[in-house]
Amino acid sequence: MIRPQGSFINRDGVDRAARSPESQTVHEMATISARTSFLHGQWTASDSAQLYGIADWGKGYVSFNAAGNATVLPTKDPSKQIDLHEVVQGLKERGVHTPVLLRFNDLLAHRLKEIRKAFDDAIADQGYQGPYSCVYPIKVNQQRHICEQIASLAVDLNFGLEAGSKPELLAVLGLSAVAGGPGVNGMPIICNGFKDSEFIETVTLATKLGRNIIPVVEKFSELELVVKHAKAYNVRPKIGLRVKLSARGAGRWEGSAGVRSKFGLFVSEVLKAVEYLKQHGMLDCLNLIHCHVGSQLYDIRVLKNAINELTHVYCELHKMGAGLTMLDIGGGMGVDYDGSQSAWSSSINYSVAEYAADVVYRIKSVCDDAGVPHPMILSESGRAMVAYSSVLVMDVLGTSRFESDPDMPAIEAAMKRETEKGGDVPQPLKDLLDCYRNLGDRNTTECFHDATQARDEAMSLFSLGYMSLEMRAATEQLFWAIGHKIIALCGRKGELPEDFEALPELLSDIYFCNFSLFQSMPDSWAIDQLFPICPIHRLNEQPTRRAILADITCDSDGKIDHFVDKRVDKKCLELHEVRDLPGEAAGVEPYYVGVFLLGAYQEILGDLHNLLGDTHAVHLSIDESGAWEIEEVIEGDTVEEVLKYVQYDPEDLKRAMRLDIEAACRQGRITLAEGKSLLKFYDDGLEGYTYLEE
Ligand SMILES: *Cc1c(COP(=O)(O)O)cnc(C)c1O
Repeated sequence: MIRPQGSFINRDGVDRAARSPESQTVHEMATISARTSFLHGQWTASDSAQLYGIADWGKGYVSFNAAGNATVLPTKDPSKQIDLHEVVQGLKERGVHTPVLLRFNDLLAHRLKEIRKAFDDAIADQGYQGPYSCVYPIKVNQQRHICEQIASLAVDLNFGLEAGSKPELLAVLGLSAVAGGPGVNGMPIICNGFKDSEFIETVTLATKLGRNIIPVVEKFSELELVVKHAKAYNVRPKIGLRVKLSARGAGRWEGSAGVRSKFGLFVSEVLKAVEYLKQHGMLDCLNLIHCHVGSQLYDIRVLKNAINELTHVYCELHKMGAGLTMLDIGGGMGVDYDGSQSAWSSSINYSVAEYAADVVYRIKSVCDDAGVPHPMILSESGRAMVAYSSVLVMDVLGTSRFESDPDMPAIEAAMKRETEKGGDVPQPLKDLLDCYRNLGDRNTTECFHDATQARDEAMSLFSLGYMSLEMRAATEQLFWAIGHKIIALCGRKGELPEDFEALPELLSDIYFCNFSLFQSMPDSWAIDQLFPICPIHRLNEQPTRRAILADITCDSDGKIDHFVDKRVDKKCLELHEVRDLPGEAAGVEPYYVGVFLLGAYQEILGDLHNLLGDTHAVHLSIDESGAWEIEEVIEGDTVEEVLKYVQYDPEDLKRAMRLDIEAACRQGRITLAEGKSLLKFYDDGLEGYTYLEE
């Protein structure tokens, strides 16, 4: 993903691209020299905090403690921290293996209260006369535990729920029964999306049941159905209209708004709707108008324009006699994933407080000018509610790297064999050896160019059949070693000339992590969304490697090679050396990496690529004393479950295996004991986690 050069403006209006070349070099070198400088004192967790930018994207919810572990502060109170490494250890003792998704109940509650407070403050500051409610669009994360928690908080906070489809409607009706209690003033339930007759009939009956439910008409025929069912059941429904605004959305979801959007009524249809309701004596039922200009609105100006236009529509319709009391500005409140506070797709150029103040101000000024009473403001801020509350922790399975020290004796031995066979040591290899031996401060650029040329020549010779595999291996090793040496030389000088800019990325390691990108962070793959990532332990140890992350799917897209940074498009992440297990044991010492801000959209958009299923999910809460406890463990999919999803019958599979093993035993290809073990692995495997377990 390439950052749009020159197109991102930060909060103070300074063009970030304009100063990026300089800050880029400075930053690159900051991390490189941190690695090579021996003058640097003892590395501490606060150096790590700076390196990974947690203050920027963590917004007070994430910290690193003195033990060098990452912590979550569910209420932003530094005296109450949950140590993620401790949690992972604790879960391991209970048999819950990584990858595991940690959900923080108190953090979710805190976030909802933060949104509530931002609007309460804006309303009080500006003398706004109407109330505010935030309705949670469950499509953002429909997991029962999350929705139940939001529904129960909604009662106190005067929040509500939003459904965008038939299954979501049924879930929301059930959820509001548990939490909201009856009464037309109970929690608001907004129904968006396309609706058929059955959908609207259900909504009509739910109104009769006492739910405060508002269907938002997306196309004219839905209005006819609303009127029809209202009459049939003798109900005065609350009706909303979604308006196609002329104000464009922006960014990835700009198609959500504007006259070409798939949703909503043209202004001419809105007028027709008013006429239609008037004819049926139901204009007083037109209570709400709605717009939704897109998700992750990174530039607040887009929202201001849309709200301005929507409020004008509101006022006009109000004057025409519509019973309007509610103005629903839709979702789109963004999340600053990369911590840069800029108008760029993984960031936003406003805070929750600024968002609330701007919304209230716009609506108030348009209404005051028109002499129309202030409406109740609703927003459908899904992402902003839940994004912070989930963190994925995964273990590193192993690494692959370009060695910085070539095995010189082996290379010399290989060259000797080559000459003994009567061949010549290929010229490119000789050149690379020369480069490697003579590389110094004075000739870095020259050496790099020579080395690059020699490597290219070597590859051509190999392709044409003029170079042996052994000679090729030697040239590759030398080329990587030269690259590493150049980075080290530049690090000592504190600058990385433009010629070598691509080197750190080219020579970075690959860390293989136990997760599926497609299941756990699909937006990273689908729309190049950035999520903050850092190790959750060893943070008071200086990271000495730079790496990209790869998942365990067999898809080459299953990798993360863009990382959050305030200033640059960062292509590798600083990580610690992963040590091999001592002695004969295969594998590496546990090394855990956390991916943050995964609460919105990722779980439900995640798919079963390679049949890697849902990860385990664990709900954590914190008590008065600051101790954490496990509230709930939701086990991830088993292999059996994902196979069933694609129509396999595990019993059939087992039977087929058993017969085959029987035959093999009879024919003596396998012993009885071996057959028994294989069958046991197969059975256990079916019942087990879809991810790797040690
Ligand atoms: C998706 C959606 C939302 C939620 O948007 P966020 O960006 O998550 O706040 C709200 N309203 C409607 C109509 C939507 O389609």
